[in-house]
Amino acid sequence: MAYLGNSARTREVLSKYGMSAKKKFGQNFLIDSNVLDGIVTASGVTDKDCVLEIGPGIGSLTQYLAEAANKVVAVEIDKSLIPVLADTLSEYNNVTVINEDVLKVNIDAIVEEYNNGKPIKVVANLPYYITTPIIMKLFESGAKIESITVMVQKEVADRMVMGPGNKDYGSLSLAVGYYAKASKVMDVSPSSFIPQPGVGSAVVKLLRYDEPAVKVNDEKYMFEIIRTAFNQRRKTLSNALSNNKSLKVTREQVQDSLKNMGLNELARGETLDLEQFAQLSDSLLPHFTKN
Ligand code: SAM
Repeated sequence: MAYLGNSARTREVLSKYGMSAKKKFGQNFLIDSNVLDGIVTASGVTDKDCVLEIGPGIGSLTQYLAEAANKVVAVEIDKSLIPVLADTLSEYNNVTVINEDVLKVNIDAIVEEYNNGKPIKVVANLPYYITTPIIMKLFESGAKIESITVMVQKEVADRMVMGPGNKDYGSLSLAVGYYAKASKVMDVSPSSFIPQPGVGSAVVKLLRYDEPAVKVNDEKYMFEIIRTAFNQRRKTLSNALSNNKSLKVTREQVQDSLKNMGLNELARGETLDLEQFAQLSDSLLPHFTKN
């Protein structure tokens, strides 16, 4: 089987099956062998690894992964692609395709079943409409995942890797930074896909920490603070947080905590780093639990 990762083969396969890319599933197929190579190289996948691929499409990236890895488990939501994958991946005996919504599968069970509970690597050209829910599910599932190397919308890649003071810094930067060290691997132009997406793309690598980057007494409370802070970016933290009744804090209490941390009491969320959000959360938590 010739590689699919070029426009002629991709069009041929789609026309053989009378198919076209489905917008509702975020289908943009990779047709650039340099990008496919670049993703696999950046992922660091070796013949000892088990890879979870999300959204194999017609199998373009899957072929490269099957050659580099010991085992590939690919989860694809689109039922009509299952016979296509059986055809395009017929030469590989180390690929298992699961027809499921990745947001509904039990990632932990996949790690157990296919890699005896040893950490896996996630590699994917993600459907852009659900990038954040997928990334958060991978982290929050607690499943043993060593790294996540994924193609995402360029703007989302920027939000993942930025720190305080940057316009792209926000709750996604902090959520990702809590679990992993994020770095951008490469920018990818729309011409590397069929059909071309309306936005630029980039590959990011998230290398998971053994332990979260900061210690915090109540993770959920901290993330509610972070979400609130960036939902109302232009407001001071004391206004934003006291407006969200579910946090159960007053403006004065937030200002006191900020002052005690040596910060300006009129600080906005975008100036705080993860460590400072953890400190702020721990300092406000007693008000929440008391009320
Ligand atoms: N990997 C292929 C490639 O690079 O050419 C296709 C990538 S395409 C951007 C995203 C893929 O994810 C599509 O095959 C789409 O059907 C699949 N997909 C979309 N939503 C999904 C979901 N919730 N669970 C699993 N797969 C999904």
